[in-house]
Amino acid sequence: MSIVIDLRSVIDEGVGASLKVEGTTAGHAELEKFHLGSIEYCCTAPIIYEFDFLNAGECVQTTCKVHADVQTDCVRCLEAFDLAFDSDVEETYFFTPTDDEHGEPYPVIPDDLKVDVEPLLLEALLVEAPFAPVHDEDCQGLCMQCGADLNKGDCGCDDAPDASHPLAGLKDLIK
Ligand SMILES: [Zn+2]
Ligand SMILES: [Zn+2]
Repeated sequence: MSIVIDLRSVIDEGVGASLKVEGTTAGHAELEKFHLGSIEYCCTAPIIYEFDFLNAGECVQTTCKVHADVQTDCVRCLEAFDLAFDSDVEETYFFTPTDDEHGEPYPVIPDDLKVDVEPLLLEALLVEAPFAPVHDEDCQGLCMQCGADLNKGDCGCDDAPDASHPLAGLKDLIK
């Protein structure tokens, strides 16, 4: 399933016409989670979105705003935690194939004037989602020797890392 928006009204009304479309991703199973590299974000509520379209003649300028409530695992202590973020991105849809200044093609408005804005919504989520989410900036992470969660107190291990311990490499992996 995708999020398809019919641009016929904003195109028929001519240059300067605008269209606002608000909604949520309720019922969109494929948007219940998303990934940024190896980090998985699970939505704890439907994503709230708002699209604004402006007829600019040869193209339709678009802004996508999202609010997401998500859960992910802290990269230091591996505990699941909730976070929320707001984001917005812009896109331009052209009637005829057009490249941007980097040679990348802009999305083209199909003949039926219905655009799938799901890729834009996903982009809005990914620009704001942290690459290395931490549940707290002061998270102490896990003990390199015994794997204990150091936020819950001192585990009593020596500070000197024991390279022979099977968890010794964990801290490097989760940086
Ligand atoms: Zn943590
Ligand atoms: Zn320890």
